[in-house]
Amino acid sequence: MLRNMFPNNVEYSMTQKSGKDSLREIKSGSVLLIEKPFAFVLKSSLRAERCAFCLKTGKLSRCSGCQFCYYCGRECQKSAWLDHKYECHLLKKISPRVVPDAAMLVARIIFKLQRGADQEMGFYSDNTYRKFRDLMSHYPDIKKDDQRMQHFASICGVLLDYIGAANLPNHAELMGIYGRMCINGFSILDPEMHGIGTGIYLGASVIDHSCCPNAVAVFDGTKIYIRAVEDIPSPDWNKVFIAYIDTLNYATDRQAELQQTYYFTCSCLKCKDIEEACLMDSMLCPNSKCGAPVTHTYGIKSKCPECGTDISQELIDEYQNVSSFTERHLNDMKEYCYLDVCISCLKKQEGLFHPYNLQHIKTLDMAFETAIQMGLFTQARKYGEELIPGLRKYYGERHPLLGISLMKCGKICVYLGDFSAARDKLEEAEHVIKLTHGVNHILYKSELEPLLLTCHVELKS
Ligand SMILES: [Zn+2]
Ligand SMILES: [Zn+2]
Ligand SMILES: [Zn+2]
Ligand SMILES: [Zn+2]
Repeated sequence: MLRNMFPNNVEYSMTQKSGKDSLREIKSGSVLLIEKPFAFVLKSSLRAERCAFCLKTGKLSRCSGCQFCYYCGRECQKSAWLDHKYECHLLKKISPRVVPDAAMLVARIIFKLQRGADQEMGFYSDNTYRKFRDLMSHYPDIKKDDQRMQHFASICGVLLDYIGAANLPNHAELMGIYGRMCINGFSILDPEMHGIGTGIYLGASVIDHSCCPNAVAVFDGTKIYIRAVEDIPSPDWNKVFIAYIDTLNYATDRQAELQQTYYFTCSCLKCKDIEEACLMDSMLCPNSKCGAPVTHTYGIKSKCPECGTDISQELIDEYQNVSSFTERHLNDMKEYCYLDVCISCLKKQEGLFHPYNLQHIKTLDMAFETAIQMGLFTQARKYGEELIPGLRKYYGERHPLLGISLMKCGKICVYLGDFSAARDKLEEAEHVIKLTHGVNHILYKSELEPLLLTCHVELKS
């Protein structure tokens, strides 16, 4: 997820339709913006699983030209051809090499700009819009950024082979396109918020970041929906914030990620919350009747602040050992999770880590997802139930991932035949998902609603 953090300083009404109601507050759950991408690309790793145009799963057929892109039907293939006709023969020519996603997206933008799309307007209110060149490129920042410059050089190399020198804009212009893509690209997410592609949204790129956002970006296919999850008192884009990154991280890590990716420092309330930073790295008071978090980040105190129990040096050492053990395994499992590794981390954490310890929550999250994938529903349910309070604590009550985790817990209870517990979880999920996705979203319509219906039918009979 990425975008521009220096939006135009224009005040206007987002709810304004006819000039009336211009000062009306925005209610949580309302849609602030719906937009199609200026350019987008499906993750190449998913190209045989999802339609390259609508990004939906299902029966696909391969483009007979390039044998690279897959479509769900004639209609999508026809609509995609507008962009694909410039790249189809080039993809064929470069095969069996696979063009990296970023290079593919840059190429699509280049071809689109060649067709005059620099005049395309992405409206973010009735009469305010951005064109591609209005997006921030962060040219000077990128030039100083070795990692980005290496990436850019590799993309240039690929593009030279892929679209050829004749199609390449000059170096500065190419870097401008690259920078705009890096800074303003959104991760396109499936209904369960997994990244399936990258898209450039001209209007939505106006929205700033906060680690405690009042709006979320969700997707229907490639279409982005910006939805308010809090009441926003003044209809002004400068007061609307989405999270560019996963906020379930230490403030220092969030800051580093934002700086590295977007070249800014976040100064939101969550980033200044020292109490939260301590809680994320807290051990559990050894007095089993107490349960208070004992802080580690700013030096472990020798006594529990709640009950006064002594915290021995051995206990602190043990906590630090388990913490490095967990950190190492969480890092190793970024690509692929192993349930037995999660279980051994959780065993070591037991009685030592506070339930709100971030590493503990991340371990539970991995164990939960992996157990679901393995069909181990009784175990998954246990992890889910331990995980939810942590997600609530750090994501808050109105976060899509809280809603989705609640829904998964409910679904597991349905599988296990515990319909009363399922209904409770699903109703909690409904409360969140109504705000974050809305009742017309496919997640609500074809997942949550049928599950709730099943529960109601089962509980009546
Ligand atoms: Zn399709
Ligand atoms: Zn093709
Ligand atoms: Zn922040
Ligand atoms: Zn205590």
